Amino acid sequence: MMPVNEMKLCFESRSCNESFARSAVAAFVAVLDPNVEELSDIKTAVSEAVTNCIVHGYKNDIGTVYIHVKIFEGALVRILIKDRGCGIADIKKAMEPLFTTGNAEERSGMGFTVMEASMDKVKVTSKMGMGTTVTLTKYIKAKD
Ligand code: ATP
Ligand code: MG
Repeated sequence: MMPVNEMKLCFESRSCNESFARSAVAAFVAVLDPNVEELSDIKTAVSEAVTNCIVHGYKNDIGTVYIHVKIFEGALVRILIKDRGCGIADIKKAMEPLFTTGNAEERSGMGFTVMEASMDKVKVTSKMGMGTTVTLTKYIKAKD
């Protein structure tokens, strides 16, 4: 299936860029006229995925975070968020609620759970030492 519109973004894995990424994706999908809740869900999921690239993927290093947004016929939005960081050893376990390898004061292990609650589909692929790609999919409902 060919997208009807798409955009790509890459930026340094600094936490100050997280709100930029979230707003940029929200601005791009605005053409689909999402309602307040749909837009907020997309921003939340992008924010969680980008934060994971910055905090876990690259840890103390600065790397590049890649975002590729595709809009398909029927108001289907697919957002790929990728890092070339450390990778995830056990994806199934990483996606369980409350599982975290981060420090307990800052991380709650709820990022993937929040992404799954906000989007219609969340897919994760990863290779140790090569990086991680999270694919977030959501249908924007038509207004009546
Ligand atoms: P929270 O998101 O609630 O602050 P968290 O980031 O630990 O906490 P999740 O976002 O659900 O929780 O991620 C679970 C775990 O998956 C992380 O602790 C980390 O071990 C691993 N992980 C997630 N994204 C990546 C990534 N891009 N690269 C490497 N590891 C990751
Ligand atoms: Mg997280």
